[in-house]
Amino acid sequence: EVCRLNAQRRQVLNEFLQLKGNIRVFCRIRPTVNGEKFSHQRPVVPADSSGILVNFSEKKRKLYNFDMVLHPGSTQDEVFSEIEPVIKSALDGYNVCILAYGQTGTGKTFTMEGNPDCPGVVPRTIEALFKQAADSNHTYLFSFSMLEIYLGQLKDLLIPHARKANDPMPTCLSIQTDPNGGIVIDNLVAIQVSNLNHAISLYRLGSQLRSTASTNSNKISSRSHCMIRMSMTCSDATERRKITNKIWMVDLGGSERVLKTKALGRRFEEGKAINLSLSALGDVINALQRKNSHIPYRNSKLTQVLKDSLGEDSKTLMLIHVSPKEEDLCETVCSLNFALRLRNIHLGKTEPNEARVMREEAMTNLQHEMQEIENNR
Ligand code: ADP
Ligand code: MG
Repeated sequence: EVCRLNAQRRQVLNEFLQLKGNIRVFCRIRPTVNGEKFSHQRPVVPADSSGILVNFSEKKRKLYNFDMVLHPGSTQDEVFSEIEPVIKSALDGYNVCILAYGQTGTGKTFTMEGNPDCPGVVPRTIEALFKQAADSNHTYLFSFSMLEIYLGQLKDLLIPHARKANDPMPTCLSIQTDPNGGIVIDNLVAIQVSNLNHAISLYRLGSQLRSTASTNSNKISSRSHCMIRMSMTCSDATERRKITNKIWMVDLGGSERVLKTKALGRRFEEGKAINLSLSALGDVINALQRKNSHIPYRNSKLTQVLKDSLGEDSKTLMLIHVSPKEEDLCETVCSLNFALRLRNIHLGKTEPNEARVMREEAMTNLQHEMQEIENNR
C-alpha cells in the first residue's frame, strides 16, 4: 500500500516538476537525411540532455542550454513523451500553445505532422486528448479548427469542406477580443469532433488544401504559418461549471532570413511577412518573461491570434529546430539565439521576483521530497 501511494505521489510530483515555468524551450536537431555527409567535425552536437555544443571552428565552441534537447536519434515517441505533460495541462483548463520554429528543412513539419509511419505531435496530441478525456470524471466536448497565416492574412483551411454550395464566399477572418480578454476569430470554422479519426480526417483535408497551394506557387507551405486548434469545453458532473480552453499547434513558417536567401518578388514579400511575425512572436514572449506592463501583441496577426494562449495563465512550448549541416550554421546560430532570448530570462537573470522565489522554493522542497521517496524505496 505504501509502495503504491509512493508511486502515485512520485508520479504527481514528476508531473508537477516537469511543468515548471509557463514557457519551455526544447531544441530538436534533425538527423542527417538522404546521405548528407560532413567534411570534418559536426557543427551541432548534443552535449547532454539539455545542452547543445556548436562548433564554429576547431577552437571556437559555444554551449547553448535548453529545457530539453531532442537529439538527432530521438523518435517521434520519445519526442511526444516529453511533450505530453503540457497536453495534460490543456485538460486541466490551461490554454496551451505548441510552436515549431526553425529554418525550412529542419523538420518542423516532420515534428508536428509526421507521416503515416511516424505520426507527429498533432495526431498524437489529438489522440492523447481523447484518451485522457475518456479516462476523466469530467465531460469534454472538442472542436477542431485549422487556418494559415499567409502574407499577414488569416485563411481558414476548413472552409471549402464546411461551406455549403449556397453559402456566400468567406471574407478574410478577423480577430476580436471577448469581454474576458479571450480571443475570438470571427467566422473561423470549428467542427465538433468526437473521435480521433474524425479529427484526423479534417486535419488531412486542411493539410491538403495547404499542400495543393504549395505545388501551384513555390512551396507556399513553408511560406505561411499553419495553425491547428483543438478547443475543449469541460463540464463537471453537475454541468454547473463549464470551462472552455484550447490548444494551439503551430507549424511556423521558415525562419531563414529573407535578405540572405536573395529571394525576389512574391517570395521576398512572403519571407518578409514571416520574418516580421516571428520577430513579433519573440518580442511578445520576451516581454512576457520580463513581466513588462506592455506586451506588443498587436504587431502581428500571429501574436494577435495567440494572445490568450501565450502568457501567465497558459503553457507555451517552443520547439526550436536546427539543421545538422555545416552550410546551415549561420541560420542555426540565428535560431539558437532566438531561443536564447526566450530562455535567458526564463532562467531568472532579471531582478528577483517574489513569485518566482516562492516557486523555486516550492520546487526545491518537492525535489527533496522526491529524493526521500527514492531513498526509501
Ligand atoms: P520543415 O517543415 O522544417 O521545412 P521538414 O519537416 O519538411 O522540414 O523536413 C525536411 C526533411 O527532413 C523531410 O524529408 C523530413 O521527412 C526529414 N526529416 C526531418 N526531421 C526528421 C527526423 N527527425 N527524422 C527523420 N527525417 C526527418
Ligand atoms: Mg514544413
